[in-house]
Order: sequence, then C-alpha cells, then structure tokens
Amino acid sequence: MIFLFIPPYSFVQTPALRHICLFFWLFCVALFWYDSVAMKKITLAAVNARFSHSSLALLCLKHAAFEKEAVTLREYNLGQNTMDIAADIIATDPDAAGFSCYIWNIDTVVKIASVVKAVRPHCLVIFGGPEVSYDCEQLMRHWPFVDVIVRGAGETPFYHLTRSLAADESILSTPSSCIRTPSGVVHTPAAPPFELSSQPFLYDDLSAYKNKMIYYETSRGCPFRCAYCMSANEPLSFLPVERAIAELEYFMRADVRQVKLVDRTFNYPDKRARQIIAALIALKQKHPQSRTNYHFEISASLLTDETVALLASAPKGLLQLEIGIQSTDDAVLQAVSRTHDTRKLLKNTQALCRAGNMRVFVDLIAGLPLETYESFSHSFDDAFALGADKLQLGFLKLLRGSKMRENASAHGIVYTSHAPYEVLQTPTLSYEELRRLHRIEQVLDSLYNEKLTQKTLSILTRVYRSPFAFFDGYTRFLEEEGYFSKPQKTETLFALLFCFARQAVDETLLREALAYDWLCLGKPGGWPDGIFVSTVNPKDALRRFSELPLSLSAREFGKRFTAAYFAMLFGAPVWLLFDHSKKRGDEGFITKIKQSETANASEMF
Ligand code: SF4
Repeated sequence: MIFLFIPPYSFVQTPALRHICLFFWLFCVALFWYDSVAMKKITLAAVNARFSHSSLALLCLKHAAFEKEAVTLREYNLGQNTMDIAADIIATDPDAAGFSCYIWNIDTVVKIASVVKAVRPHCLVIFGGPEVSYDCEQLMRHWPFVDVIVRGAGETPFYHLTRSLAADESILSTPSSCIRTPSGVVHTPAAPPFELSSQPFLYDDLSAYKNKMIYYETSRGCPFRCAYCMSANEPLSFLPVERAIAELEYFMRADVRQVKLVDRTFNYPDKRARQIIAALIALKQKHPQSRTNYHFEISASLLTDETVALLASAPKGLLQLEIGIQSTDDAVLQAVSRTHDTRKLLKNTQALCRAGNMRVFVDLIAGLPLETYESFSHSFDDAFALGADKLQLGFLKLLRGSKMRENASAHGIVYTSHAPYEVLQTPTLSYEELRRLHRIEQVLDSLYNEKLTQKTLSILTRVYRSPFAFFDGYTRFLEEEGYFSKPQKTETLFALLFCFARQAVDETLLREALAYDWLCLGKPGGWPDGIFVSTVNPKDALRRFSELPLSLSAREFGKRFTAAYFAMLFGAPVWLLFDHSKKRGDEGFITKIKQSETANASEMF
C-alpha cells in the first residue's frame, strides 16, 4: 500500500527504466482505485434445509457474475439463529445482498433480509428463486426492504445486474426483474432462455463440500406438464453428454460421497440417459475404490427395456433412483395432466427394485384433485408392493406459478395461505382424512423408511388385508393411545405395535419378530414392554459357542455381541449372534450359531 504513495523516480537513475517504473506505478494506482472505489461487494446467501445440503443456485450465480471475485457466498441452514445469520451477512459489508428463496426457507430469509436492510439501508436487497418468481409486485408491496426480485433463471439477470453495479450505472437494464424505483416497481423484459451449456464447470474447488452432498445438473426444464409442478413451464436445456460424463467422472475421482442430479427428468431423452449411465458403469471399473453414489430422478414409464437392464447391471451402490408415482389412479393423473403409463411405470420400478444393486425411492402425493381416501389407499398399496427402499409420502403443495394454484378454487382445493401452501382439504378428501394421512406418513417413515421394524412389517403386511389397512389401523390405534400428542421414544412404538398386532398374529411369532428388529437397532439396554427373547450371558455364550472364532474376554464379548434365541421366527429354532459393532445389512452383522429340532432354548446345548 505504501508503495502506491512513493513515486519510483527517487530510486531509479536510467531514464528508460524511470518510464517503465512510472508506467507500472500508474497502473498499480489505477488498479488500487478500481479495487477500492469501483468494485461493489456482493454477498449471496442461501439458507439450506440441512447442514449436509449445499446451494447449487449460489454457485450458478457466482459463476455468472460480471466479476466473480466481487461475490462472496454464504451458506446457512434452518437450524441456525436468524439474527446470527443476519450478523454474519452484515459483517461482509455488502453493497448488495442476494437471497435464494424457496418454500422451505422463505420465512427465515424474509426475517434475515429485513434485518440486513434495517442495519445497512444502502445495501441493495435482491431476492430470487422459485418462491419469488411469480406475483413479484404483490411480494414487493409485502416486503418494503426488498429492492429487486429476479424472476426465473437467475444467471443472465445476475450478470447484467453485477455489470451495472460494477460500472455504477442504473440497474434498470437487468432483464427478468422487478425493480423498486422512487416512482414504483418496474418490470423489466424477460431474458432469453438460459443455455445450460454456456455455464462453466462450477466445482473447481471441492474443499467447501466435505461431508456435503453435491448438487449437479446435466439438464434443466422438463418436457411434461404436471399441473402441480413449476418445472412444467421451464424450457429444456442440456449439457453436451461428453461434458456431463467428464464432470461426473471428476466427482468420482475426488471420491465425493453423493452427487445429486437435480435434472427434473434425468432419463429424458432415454438414449442420452443411457449414454451417461453406461459411461458411469465403465468409469466405476476405472475407479473401483471410489465410493461416489449418483442420485437421479427418473420417470420410470419412459424407461426402455434396454435402459432397465443397463441400470440393473450397475455395480452395487453406484446409483440411487427416485421415481415419482404420485398416484396410480388414472382419473387423478388425468386431472393433473400427468400423462404417464402407470402400468409400465410400476412394472419398470418393480424390476429396478428387484435388481437389488441400487437404492430406489418412490414418491406418492396425497391431496391431488379427485383423490379419495379409498383411491389413495390403492395407490399406497401399489407403491408399497414394489418393495422400494423408501416410500415417500408427500402432500400436494399449491406452488406459486403452477397451473394447480391458478385452478385451485375451480378444483375446490383449500390450502395454507403461507409457505409451503399445503393442501388442507379437497372436495373428495376431508381435512380429518388428510391429518390421518400425515400421521400415517409419520408411522411409515419410522417403521418402513427408517427400517425400524423391517422383519415385523414383512409379517404384518401379509396378515392384514393390505399394507394400507395395517398402517391405517395402527395409526388409529396410536391416536387412541395419545401417541401423537407428545414426543415418544422408539421403545414405545415397539411396545404399542406389539399391543396392537397381537390380536392378528401369533403372539410368540410377533414378539420374536419385534425382538429381532429391536436387536437390529443396536445393543439393547432394556427391552420394550412385552418384547423379549432368550439371551445368554457372555460367559456362557463363550463356553457354549466354542465353534465361533472369538478371542475375546467375557466383558468384551458382552459389550459387542448379543446371542439370542428364536423358536418360531425362522421356521426352526435357532440361536443368532448379533454383532453390534456392525450395521444392519453389513456382512457378519448376524451369524447363525446353532440350529436344532428342539423348541427349548436350554436343551440346545
Ligand atoms: S412433476 Fe416431474 S415430470 Fe411432471 S412436470 Fe414436474 S418435473 Fe416434469
């Protein structure tokens, strides 16, 4: 810095050198002036749902900015204090602060932005994202602290905005925006559709993504027109396949744990998806040590037999799929302009679930027009029968800008006036029925998705009239027991499941199934009420199970293992050894240590 104020003449004797030094000095002074006077500091902030999530939107914008170095990125999560977040943004001393707005973070973002504006009135507050891309004028009236709202894809508007800021010019040339001026809100013309291929690679530096999921897109937009979805209006744009493959390999080489593709329908078109999947399978052979998992959202009804076979041939753990079923009722699907072939979708999804080499998640949406409790129960049973790793039960959201929201009153749909604009009742599904479905979702998540009672469920869903009949019946029982009125421990869920199901299933079999599931959760400190099986103390176990290669003391054995006896659960009486240092599904987690014809645990030795 001092150098800028000392002319170089005094040190240099030769005239030619003097000129060079003078030129260099003037250049440095100009650079310093440009840096300190012209460069406007821009902070872009995202409040993610969880710590493990990251914001792709911020990265896209930073790379689209006129001066990348003027942009500071700040990521937070919903668990953080809003005043702390605001203070952190203010500490960056921004000339402009941009916020990425979604239904899950809008309330928090609004609070933070209002504090930033109150403390730094000169700071230009910019909102962008799906939650603010529609009804801009109304939103600007609601939020006087917001100066600019960017509508739709943010890259092109952000480039123009940052260029104007850097040049100290009016920002009214920013396209696709609503801009507050002294004479009112100005709507600027829409930017041309954004071409994904014009975007540079965003993840040169992966150091900020340790233990985080990487979001990545190879395509934007969707060719379908589902009435509840905002992507239905988005034009399609693709990365060249070769580039997408090279970038996906980069993540594999860096051993990123999970890359979540945000492509709305990854397998459109089918041939392009097949090229990428085949390349990933080949790359896995090249990098066998890599643990990278790729998550895709696909439309199973678009899959050809060739693509199903290719997916089924992928190495275990390489891929993870999410498949939207939403409903299996044709009238419901038609009412939301979802034009998928349900039979093909179910057939392909089942084949992918059975392949067993990848995790498959399937989604249903409750509260769609024309859906009744009865018709939803059929969709639930159809989805459950697929045997997916997770069955995710969502609820219709009337998103700003979606056809469904425009037509909500015509459909008679009542929804929350605040984000996430979730359905409360429809002409065919009452508020009470939707509340029960919410509770069923809670029970489904614990028992099935979290795999708390995998063994027990495999018995119960066969005994009851249908999987939905079981979940509905058990949820009603839990309601009567006051289960949902306060936070509950896992053992309560087990104990109540035993009470509920023992009318329908042999009590010993049920007790054993629940005890098995309980032992799968870890070393039991105690058993849930009514649930237990015979176990053996560590000293006796070591003596009795001499065939096991265990060179442990009784104390060490007791800490790590449980030996438990099951008389009925596996057809013939058996002692199993649970190794609690491993996880369910890991090799060696459960070992069969003794089998016998006798049904008496003690007579087996
Ligand atoms: S729900 Fe899926 S298939 Fe339908 S428009 Fe949206 S992204 Fe496309």
